Amino acid sequence: MYRIVFLGPPGAGKGTQAARLARALSIPHLSTGDLLRSAIAEKTPLGLRAERFVTAGELVPDALVLEILKERLGRSDTARGFVLDGYPRNPEQAEKLAALAPIDRVVAFDLPLEVVTERLGGRRVCPVCQAVYNLHTQPPRIEGKCDRDGASLETRPDDRPESVATRFRLYREKTEPLIRFYRDRNLLVTIDANGPPETVYARLTAALGLASDMAPGRDASVYSGGGARRSGPA
Ligand SMILES: [Zn+2]
Repeated sequence: MYRIVFLGPPGAGKGTQAARLARALSIPHLSTGDLLRSAIAEKTPLGLRAERFVTAGELVPDALVLEILKERLGRSDTARGFVLDGYPRNPEQAEKLAALAPIDRVVAFDLPLEVVTERLGGRRVCPVCQAVYNLHTQPPRIEGKCDRDGASLETRPDDRPESVATRFRLYREKTEPLIRFYRDRNLLVTIDANGPPETVYARLTAALGLASDMAPGRDASVYSGGGARRSGPA
């Protein structure tokens, strides 16, 4: 089984890595943000409940996020596992997740603040179609303009250096107990997320004990033992 959780600061590129790993292993890439958005778009009963909070500009309560996650993890395409990105955010959520689905590995993406600041500082978004660009890695064809609609690109207030530093510090403080939680349970691997996506991906597969060519189903031995499994909340 490949029930994998990704942790990392904003700008660590874990979304990209999660999508690629999930594709290679033929398992779904789940992020709670996407799950919420699709539950709302599909107007499922849980989605309708979540929508009220989103419309009011409030955080969707933990219990509701967990219910949406539970529903998603119950679908058949998670039979071989999943890559979960953006959840859990604290040990309480980790306990609840463990009760839903025992996690096999947790990957922590490690990145210094200077690199996060540089990466996020290069991010530009289109106010019209919400497309995201990066001056370093994915610049628009015409400087400052959206490729799709020509709108002037903007920097999100969140991506300005002082906001990035604050977000990064908060991330560290909030995540430290979670890192400890998974380290104590022998589930944690940490990888250096500084470098081109290709290099980081190679580190990721190596850390997971997977062949670098990532033939799905190969070398799954690290997951097959029961030693790292937990039977439920302590
Ligand atoms: Zn646009």
